Amino acid sequence: MTDDQVEPFFATLRAANPLPTTELEFTTPFELLVAVLLSAQATDAGVNKATRKLFPRANTPRAILALGQEGLEEYIKTIGLYRSKAKHLLETCRMLVERHGGRVPRTREELESLPGVGRKTANVVLNVCFGEETMAVDTHIFRVANRTGLAPGRNPLEVENGLLRRVPKEYLVDAHHWLILHGRYVCVARTPRCWECAVIRYCDWQPKTPPPGASRA
Ligand code: SF4
Repeated sequence: MTDDQVEPFFATLRAANPLPTTELEFTTPFELLVAVLLSAQATDAGVNKATRKLFPRANTPRAILALGQEGLEEYIKTIGLYRSKAKHLLETCRMLVERHGGRVPRTREELESLPGVGRKTANVVLNVCFGEETMAVDTHIFRVANRTGLAPGRNPLEVENGLLRRVPKEYLVDAHHWLILHGRYVCVARTPRCWECAVIRYCDWQPKTPPPGASRA
C-alpha cells in the first residue's frame, strides 16, 4: 500500500461506519476492563452473554471481590480459561482497591502492572475509555495490516508501531475499531471476502478472492 493510498483506505472505512466502537458491552471503565480481560481467546458475543448476568450483580472491584473465586466462576464458566481468568480478575480487583481507590488507572504503566493486563488490554482501555491514540493489535488487526500492506510486521508490536507511524492523525483514535471489524467480517482469516471488500483497490494482497461461483483469474 502506497502512502497515497492510506488516507483513502481509512476514509472508505469511515464512510461505511462513522462511529465505530467495540462490540464488548460496558458502561464504565471498570466494566470494559473486566470484559477485555475475559475476552482473551473468547468471542465478544460469549463475553457479553456472561457479563449481562455478572454486571447487574457486581460491576465494581469491591463487589467482584465479594463474590470470591467460586462465586465469580459461576458467572463466567461459559468462557474459555475461566478459572485462571477469575483468579486474575480477583487479583486485579484487589490491586485496584488497594492502590487505585477502586478506579481504573489512566496510565499504561499502571494498567500493565495489573494481573492479566498486557499491552493489548491496556491499549483497548486507554483508547476506548480515555480516547488515547493507541492501537490494540489483536489477531484481526495483525492479519489486515499484513495482508493489505498497511503496516506489515512479524509480531504485534511491529504492527502497532507501523500503524502509529502510518495512520493519519484524524483516523488514529478510531483506526483500531475499523481494522478489527474489517478483519472480523470481511478480511476474514481463512478466505478473505475480497469480492465485497470496500478497500480492495488499496490492498496489496494477491490473489484476490473471486466471488463465490466465479473461477479465479
Ligand atoms: S481485498 Fe481481500 S485481502 Fe485485501 S483487505 Fe479486502 S478482503 Fe482483505
